[in-house]
Formats: sequence, structure tokens, C-alpha cells
Amino acid sequence: MSDRTRSPVVIIGGGPAGMMAGLLFARAGVQTLVLEKHADFLRDFRGDTVHPSTLNLFDELGLLEALLAREHDKISAVGAVIGGREYRIADFSYLPGRAPFIAMMPQWHFLNFVADAARRFPSFTLRMEAEAVGLIEGTKRIEGVRLANGEALEARLVIAADGRSSRMRAAAALPLQDLGAPIDVLWFRVPKARTADNRTQGYINRGEMIVTIDRGDYFQCARVIEKGAADRVRAAGIERFRDDVAAPVPSLSANIGAIADWGDVKLLTVSLDRLLRWHRPGLLAIGDAAHAMSPVGGVGINLAIQDAVAAANILATELAAGGDPDPLLHRIRTRRMLAVRTIQAVQRAIHRNVIGSAMRNDKPRAPAVIQLLQAIPALQALPAWLLGLGIQREHVHSPDASRRA
Ligand SMILES: Cc1cc2nc3c(=O)[nH]c(=O)nc-3n(C[C@H](O)[C@H](O)[C@H](O)COP(=O)(O)OP(=O)(O)OC[C@H]3O[C@@H](n4cnc5c(N)ncnc54)[C@H](O)[C@@H]3O)c2cc1C
Repeated sequence: MSDRTRSPVVIIGGGPAGMMAGLLFARAGVQTLVLEKHADFLRDFRGDTVHPSTLNLFDELGLLEALLAREHDKISAVGAVIGGREYRIADFSYLPGRAPFIAMMPQWHFLNFVADAARRFPSFTLRMEAEAVGLIEGTKRIEGVRLANGEALEARLVIAADGRSSRMRAAAALPLQDLGAPIDVLWFRVPKARTADNRTQGYINRGEMIVTIDRGDYFQCARVIEKGAADRVRAAGIERFRDDVAAPVPSLSANIGAIADWGDVKLLTVSLDRLLRWHRPGLLAIGDAAHAMSPVGGVGINLAIQDAVAAANILATELAAGGDPDPLLHRIRTRRMLAVRTIQAVQRAIHRNVIGSAMRNDKPRAPAVIQLLQAIPALQALPAWLLGLGIQREHVHSPDASRRA
């Protein structure tokens, strides 16, 4: 292969991890190519929750105002309706920073924003409808990727940010630990009238757990089911499905008829896993490709972005100077594992203790800890901190090449 310092960093996947890594490496003056297999970012049933940790990073990049100029809703506190009673769990107004709230922004708006911000740097290229199908293995390291159209692209470094079914991590034979998730999710839409405030809410009642994400004129709804139970739910018929959803969430009943048939209900299989090693010489995995998260807490996008920031902090200066990234690659996993392990442990505990008991119980009661949060509202700062800012929070330290020029 030719002089590899002239080849770009090739990032596989234009999700939150890949686009943020693309923005930061290009900002550091590193030739960066992001490959996304779809023609656009407009896929549904993706996370919408841009947490304070991510908003603070955009503030550090001087992009917060521009990001918040895109269509979004603000959520300053999150709660749940348990057994028909409303509880407040996390109050983000206690958090430091200029954005103490969750910005509810459809993921395609968010990714388009990051792509626009990255395109300002001449070293950034985004190729849509470019699917990576394999890796080019050299004698000592991975030297590039093969695309579905037969092209072979050389890379100084391949970053696998291709999500939880990552083909690149499989091609690199990185060892995966499956932690198991006892739930799956059925997703569907129910129309609603627009309201001044965002009505995103979680409901636990009558043996059901349902989340309704307010997207203006419709709710994007998630019904949590036992893993593997989708066929059983379908066999009971669409009418029964509509009844089971509307009973615990009466506000959905007026328009529940919009779910006409099973074509309107999508199954998302939930995974919880993590790689035991995130790199090989010439390749690094980040985001869901390194650790698939449960939808619980809506933290997946935000953790994926933190990985991208950590990767750029550790690698960008070396890459911009034409150096060898390989000796540094192990440091990204070392840096990020505390956050991944802790959040996955909390998600597993919620799968087992909160969701499991909600789905076994017709008349659920709020656990003692949630009762305590009502009695002493200031304690709502703690879950807000964990959810909103997370653990081992990253800050942008990678260079901005345009400032040097
Ligand atoms: C049902 C569900 C609901 C969720 N809700 C939330 C939420 O509300 N908030 C939240 O923060 N997180 C949520 N998550 C998790 C969140 O979606 C992920 O954690 C996050 O998107 C991970 O980002 P990523 O960039 O690592 O991967 P992804 O978002 O999966 O992006 C990977 C990208 O790679 C592309 N790609 C894949 N293979 C190839 C290839 N071979 N070549 C080129 N491109 C490829 C894909 O098209 C995709 O665009 C949810 C997850 C699920 C399953």
C-alpha cells in the first residue's frame, strides 16, 4: 500500500458517534471520510434525546446557539406515571452549564446539523449510500475498507461507528460480551394535537410499560414487551394491541385507531453488550459498535458522542502531525469503560427491578426511592446529574486547525 499518512481516517457509519468523530477529526485538520450506507439520515425509531452532556460539548465548540436554532423541544424535568399517579424523578434545572435540559430533537435533524457543521472544514468528506462490506488486512494492521460497489479505500485508521450490529467489529474479530436484555420494544405512532409544552412521558400501569415521545403532532410510542414476545402479541390481534396500549395511557385512546394494522408497529430487538477490546492496529470501534445500550434512560446517543470526543482528544493531535495512531488506540477503551460499565449496570438493574416488576404487576406502586424523591425534591438533582451529565464526562481538547491558520 502507498504512504498511509496521506490516506484519510475512514469512519464507517454516519450515526451520532461517526458524525461527531468526523466533525472533530476534520476540525483538527485530519483528512476524514465518513461513509454512511443510507441515502439520508431520515430513519425513524431512533433516539431523540440530546442530553446536557452533549449540549455542553456543542457549547465548547461554539455551536450551541446554532444547534438550538434547529427545531426542538426542551425538557427540564423527567418523570413517570406509575399506577395512574405522576412522579417527578430528575430535575435538570439543578445542573450547571448553559443548557440544563434535554433537547428533544429528531435524530435526523441532529445529524444534519453535525454534517453541516463538519462540512465547513475542507478536510471533511461525507459519502452517503456508501456501504462498507469488509476490511483490507495488511500484514501488520488493517489498511482500509472494501465497499459494496467493489471500491477499495485506503485508510490511516478505520473507525467502526456502524452501530450495534457492527459488521466492521465482526470483520475485525473483536471479542464481544453479550450482557443479555430481557426486553424488546414495539414502536408505533399515535397522532395528537400540538401543545405548548412537550408531553414526553413514561407510564407504568396494568402490567404495561409505555413511553410516549412528544413529536409535536404525534406521539412516537414505545411499548416494552418481554424478549421474544412479539409473535405472541401479534397473534392476539391488532385490536387487543390497541386496547392494551390505551388502557394504561388514556390520553392515547382518542387516536389509537390510527394504528391500522401490524405494518404500523415495528419491532426493535434490544441488545446490551460490549466489546472486550475496542481496537486492533489500524482499527478502532466506538459508539454502539463498541457497546450497545438499552433504550432505558435514552443515553445511547450521548455515550456514543462522548466516545467520539474521547477518540478525538486522544488521537487527533497525533494524526494531524502525521504520526502513528496505533500505540494510542487502547487508551480510548480505558478512558470510556467506567462510564459504559456503570450505565449498563444501572440499565440492567432497571430491566430486572423496575421494568420486570412493572410488567408482572397490575397495580404497581412507585418504589421507595421514587417516593423519597417526591418528599425531598432537591434529591432530584442526583438522577438529573447521572442521566444528564453522566459519568466520566468528556470535554473537547482536540485542536481546531482553523485557529492555527
Ligand atoms: C429502540 C431504541 C430507542 C432508542 N432511544 C434512544 C433515545 O431516546 N436516546 C438515546 O440517546 N439513545 C437511544 N437509543 C440508542 C441510540 O439510538 C444509540 O445508542 C445511538 O444511535 C448509537 O449511535 P452510533 O452512532 O454508535 O450508532 P447508530 O446510531 O446505530 O449509527 C450507525 C450508523 O452506521 C450506518 N451503518 C451501519 N453499517 C454500515 C456499513 N456497513 N457501512 C456504512 N454505514 C453503515 C447506519 O446506517 C447508521 O447510520 C435507542 C436505541 C433503540 C434500539
